Amino acid sequence: MNVGQSDSRTVGLLGDKAYLSDCPTVRPSDASLQPIVTKVEQGQRLDRDDALALFRSSDLLTVGSLADLANRRANRDRVYFAANQHINPTNVCVLRNTCVFCSFARMPREDGAYTRSLDEVFAEADAARDNATREFHIVGGLHPKLTLAYYLDMFRGLKARHPDVMIKALTAVEVAHLARIERQSVRDVLLAMRDAGVTSLPGGGAEVFSPAARATIADRKLTGEEWLAVHREAHGLGIPSNCTMLYGHVETLEDRVDHLLALRALQDETHGFLCYIPLAYHPDHNELGERLGRQGTATTGFDDLKNIAVGRLVLDNIPHVKTHWPMVTPFISQVALSFGCDDLEGTVVFERVYHEAGAATQMWLSYDEIIALVRGAGKTPVERDSLYQPVRTFEDWVPGRHAVRPEGPAPLGELFKIEHRKTARAARRAATAIVDSAE
Ligand code: SF4
Repeated sequence: MNVGQSDSRTVGLLGDKAYLSDCPTVRPSDASLQPIVTKVEQGQRLDRDDALALFRSSDLLTVGSLADLANRRANRDRVYFAANQHINPTNVCVLRNTCVFCSFARMPREDGAYTRSLDEVFAEADAARDNATREFHIVGGLHPKLTLAYYLDMFRGLKARHPDVMIKALTAVEVAHLARIERQSVRDVLLAMRDAGVTSLPGGGAEVFSPAARATIADRKLTGEEWLAVHREAHGLGIPSNCTMLYGHVETLEDRVDHLLALRALQDETHGFLCYIPLAYHPDHNELGERLGRQGTATTGFDDLKNIAVGRLVLDNIPHVKTHWPMVTPFISQVALSFGCDDLEGTVVFERVYHEAGAATQMWLSYDEIIALVRGAGKTPVERDSLYQPVRTFEDWVPGRHAVRPEGPAPLGELFKIEHRKTARAARRAATAIVDSAE
């Protein structure tokens, strides 16, 4: 696939008038939404004021109906999912104390810190061999001593062992970190990753681009402009990517809208984003949750659905919107399929990052569960690869006949354990000490 070319991924949410005429007219309870209803029904692009009005309105059903209309124009009743496996090679991160919303990272000698050897990564990947895995989703901390060679050997090794599995790996933040410690350009790091077998980049690390919100929740991370620059570079090299927004912490509605507009502007330029994923902030076991007094709570279903729907409506040039079921529960994700969503994440196998932050959802879903969930929403399940190419459909699928997790053995052992942080904030240590003591 060539990023930047017009193809099935860019089927317009604004077009397909024939299909549009089949859709019922949306009648808003909130009369202030009527001009936006007209715009969406006529296939016009929404502006900043429209997006703010959608976020401010309590008429969730109208916002959801409009998003459903926009989604059905592009994706009809198809719902995509991946048979994927998440792999997190290390949770050691130099930003452990400054990304205050994060519950995953550890200092090098903090309880629960881990860094996998390549053999351990390959063993973890092998544990999913019976799952017909088609995508490895690989993200982790910014380890001060893991080099680019470690990751390239990992990608090559995974490709050699699992040639049919696509590799979606390393957030823009990790790519920029590797470029910095290797004293290479971001472009050269991306080229090396592509040559070693990486198919696409995940969308993490974007958080919200607002400098004020970023200063509060992640003041040492890449800026929004820098995050966008890494993705622009990737798209220019033919590496497509996903994009995200972390919501439900200290951001304002204006911050959300400006974030979405920045993503839309880059997509107009490159056409390299495959999918947008709104990510719900989880407040457990992190400093921000403690400071806000929010521990034990999570985002509301109302806000989860609103973020899906407004994302679908504003990002009219990004072909897919994904609900991340480990974060918001499979129940909300099923409802989200009628609020503008056409992607359900995947089987996942073992989800670590959000469970460290208090997510109480399952660690994986089986094919049967995913197919039942999609069909229960009146939609058609389609298994996809990382590039949204259909892998198979399920017209003849008989539930219970297929030994895929959780019917198969659960992943067990040291590689598959969650151990929550002892404290939200680790003891402060000088940066040089972090580097010197890293594994
Ligand atoms: S959010 Fe990412 S970069 Fe920030 S501390 Fe967590 S793992 Fe590290």
